[in-house]
Amino acid sequence: MQRWRNRSPGDLSIELDEVEAMLVEPAIAAAEKAAREWARTPLSERIACLRGAQARIAAEKEALARGIAIETGKPISEARGELGAVIAKFDLTIEDAEQHLARREVAGGPHPAFVRQAARGPAVVIAPFNFPLHLGNGALLAHLAAGNTVIFKPSPLAAVVAGRYAELMRESFPPGVFGFVQGGAEEAQALCLDSRIRAVCFTGSVPVGRALAKALSEDYSKELALELGGRNAAIVCADADLELAARSIADAMCLTCGQRCNATSRVLVDARVAEGFAAKLADEVAKWTPGDPLDDATKLGPLISDAAVQRYAALLDEHADWLVKGGSGAPPLRAHRSGGAPLPPLRGHFVLPAVRRGATRPDIECFVPIADFDTFTDLDEAVAKNNASPFGLTASVFTRSEETFSQLADELRVSNLYANLPTTFSPSTLPFGGWGLSGNGRPGGRGFIRFCTSEQAIQLGKDTFAR
Ligand code: NAD
Repeated sequence: MQRWRNRSPGDLSIELDEVEAMLVEPAIAAAEKAAREWARTPLSERIACLRGAQARIAAEKEALARGIAIETGKPISEARGELGAVIAKFDLTIEDAEQHLARREVAGGPHPAFVRQAARGPAVVIAPFNFPLHLGNGALLAHLAAGNTVIFKPSPLAAVVAGRYAELMRESFPPGVFGFVQGGAEEAQALCLDSRIRAVCFTGSVPVGRALAKALSEDYSKELALELGGRNAAIVCADADLELAARSIADAMCLTCGQRCNATSRVLVDARVAEGFAAKLADEVAKWTPGDPLDDATKLGPLISDAAVQRYAALLDEHADWLVKGGSGAPPLRAHRSGGAPLPPLRGHFVLPAVRRGATRPDIECFVPIADFDTFTDLDEAVAKNNASPFGLTASVFTRSEETFSQLADELRVSNLYANLPTTFSPSTLPFGGWGLSGNGRPGGRGFIRFCTSEQAIQLGKDTFAR
């Protein structure tokens, strides 16, 4: 089997434990074997298992957050936020389950009737590296609450921290209910394509999601939920609070070093305020300087890999006109934590945020901290430019006018829209998931449990059960 060792993207001298890819067949067989019993387990008992898992994860939340920071380079403050979301998701999912799984009586038909939500069967959840626990966790919890056994296949780039999360989950459920497979594309495909798997939730890039959708098209009753990329715009109107807009856009470009599906990668500005706004945005972006992901003060961590740095460098090379020119961004000398001589600069995949003037292809995701800076002359043009992207995940509108905002809300083709907030502001209390190329099935947010069950309509003939 394939083996690998991840290095910390924020400090390449740190090598993590070796990981080995795992066999798929035993995981599927165990999930299938446990499926019937788990589906028949009363919701109250399933919830008790979920509560046990929540407590185990809460008890290790700092270690898991450090694990994310070390393995993916996500700044520790963000990683702690991710753990907070993981833990809160248990409460939200349990609340959703209690509502969604309740039997619904239907009056007005020829016979007494009701609709119940039946478990689907074993589900596979494939996760990306950028939220290595939170995104998989949301889908896993919804399936578990719905009565489906699950198999989690995390990103190989976050294998060690995902492995610890999976141990905590597995020991909270009866045997076979929570399965785990380490691996890459080969293992993921084998899991998703197996006919015993009745639902797949994939979060990752468009090419992989599209290939999965094609490969599964014959098995049309297998539920496929896709949470893919974004090419999200911030629209800055002439009446906006320009300081707030500049700060919010810099945040949305730079959080997780631009490696968020909901990152802002296009800035559309009313031409009348464009030059003044450009200067403010450049000032805000300059405040994002790279630092040690394990330092509480760090806001900008590294990119995930050398390949991502190469992609970033190629984007810099292929464009000539820059408002903010990026580059590699090794953090400065670090203070020694125990007070000794300063340590040498970190060796890692650090880059600086950059803003290019003009529009580039709206159909290609950036996934690095680079945004286009473009202008519009009226709202129709802003809408047309936003909607020129086949993605449809998030957009922000900066304006003081409610009328302007509602007009744009009617016309922008995005699933999550924000007024005077960053495009990255996506709390778990709301539905989340994209339109267009960004996906289907809304697995990323509130209410995903709707996609984890099969509706069954039941009618009772007259005196059916009378003796
Ligand atoms: P990726 O597509 O490279 O990998 C994601 C997962 O898919 C990994 O677990 C990987 O092992 C697995 N995989 C790889 N090949 C596969 C195949 N042929 N079949 C099935 N699974 C396969 O993505 P990534 O680089 O880990 O993450 C970044 C991408 O994820 C970006 O495009 C980003 O926009 C997207 N993303 C979307 C959301 C969202 O909510 N919409 C959230 C986070 C990330």
